[in-house]
Amino acid sequence: MKKTAPVAKNETIDAVFEDLTHDGAGVAKIDGYPVFVPNTLPGEKAKIKIIKVNSGYAFGRLLELYEESPFRVHIPVEENHKYGGSQLQHISYEGQLKFKENQVKQVLARIGKLDDVAIHPILGMEHPWHYRNKAQVPVGEKDGELIAGFYKPRTHEIVDTNESLIQDSVINEAVQTVKEICSELGIPAYDEQTHRGVLRHIMARYGKETGELMVVIITRTSELLQRNKIVEEIIKRLPKVKSIVHNINSKKTNVILGEKTKVLWGSEVIYDYIGDVKFAISARSFYQVNPDQTKVLYSKALEYAGLTGEESVIDAYCGIGTISLFLAQKAKKVFGVEIVPEAISDAKRNAELNGITNAEFAVGEAEKVIPAWYEEGNTADVLVVDPPRKGCDEALLNTIIQMKPKKVVYVSCNPATLARDLRILEDGGYKTIEVQPVDMFPQTTHVECISQLILKM
Ligand code: SAH
Repeated sequence: MKKTAPVAKNETIDAVFEDLTHDGAGVAKIDGYPVFVPNTLPGEKAKIKIIKVNSGYAFGRLLELYEESPFRVHIPVEENHKYGGSQLQHISYEGQLKFKENQVKQVLARIGKLDDVAIHPILGMEHPWHYRNKAQVPVGEKDGELIAGFYKPRTHEIVDTNESLIQDSVINEAVQTVKEICSELGIPAYDEQTHRGVLRHIMARYGKETGELMVVIITRTSELLQRNKIVEEIIKRLPKVKSIVHNINSKKTNVILGEKTKVLWGSEVIYDYIGDVKFAISARSFYQVNPDQTKVLYSKALEYAGLTGEESVIDAYCGIGTISLFLAQKAKKVFGVEIVPEAISDAKRNAELNGITNAEFAVGEAEKVIPAWYEEGNTADVLVVDPPRKGCDEALLNTIIQMKPKKVVYVSCNPATLARDLRILEDGGYKTIEVQPVDMFPQTTHVECISQLILKM
């Protein structure tokens, strides 16, 4: 029999919070029925208003806090815009790390049924602010002026933001300056509703180790009005700029970058270093956004791969070859696979740039390319995967199980799909030895993990 919900829409109730969801909302149980309320923390008591009721759960809004968690931090209202995109802004950094570590433990037990795995304490940052080396900021108009910032949660309303506390200050300055230049030159913003207008996003990327800046202007139209003037002003006002790129996205879509890019000025790429390895990064390629923590993550990848110089390694989902080239220094041979063609061009260029001759790269879907390699009789001693949020394709996992590399290193940005995939690999003959969460995205709900599996004899 279907139970009716113990709460009604618009009702005001008192609640005690006992848990947090993976997206950072507090959870209170009313007669066992969960109510999710953003901006509340475990251990807190509050007055809430019920705003939406479903058969199994409801959503509420915080009205008044009666008892506060020791992990709560208060942000002055006038500072609020600086925290855009930081869903955990109301939790101290210590509390955030605890939350992420608990989430990994719970998800690995619940979804992965992995009870005897060593899950190490999460590796956090000493200064968990201004860490991001890339911003992609939507542009709109308000009262005839250009605005750029972040979307108000659950809306498509842009909040104009001059400074973000998670972005590198070079990035903040670049976005702000490009917005000012376009505003002065009268470039109209793109309008989602009517699919008219020009300027959709401003993107900036920064090589922290080299001091090189890339600016990408994303428009609906294939022509960029006043392009020479825009370029001239960017060069004048942003002395760190090495690359100015125009990207065209004429589709009605939430995807930020379109397929066509034109270099307006300077180089097609900027450079950066991770450890001793130098990387060329182009506008459309994936590159880790937190360079300090990337070093921590890749050092773990190297440790978990346990290379002696004799191994052949496959790096699936290799992007611009970052992990591949890190591992190539200690392996006999590395093969990288990646779906974005520009990323593979970057990867090849990066191998050359570093004089690395034992790494090869192929464009394609990991779940097609690696099975094809295996059919041709190729195997690997160590296999690294670093898939997007949806995790590995089953065809790839099945090939790993048949190919039997001695070690698998799984880098994941989503604990839920990591847990699902570890279960499949465990059932296929692997043992998960350890899992190391690394905080790559302080102030946000994103959780990164790296894990080591070995083939059972
Ligand atoms: N290992 C890299 C990139 C990880 S991000 C690094 O650390 O920098 C995941 C990458 O997987 C992205 O570059 C994305 O383009 C790529 N990708 C997504 N789906 C893929 C698929 N089916 N096959 C191969 N690569 C894919």
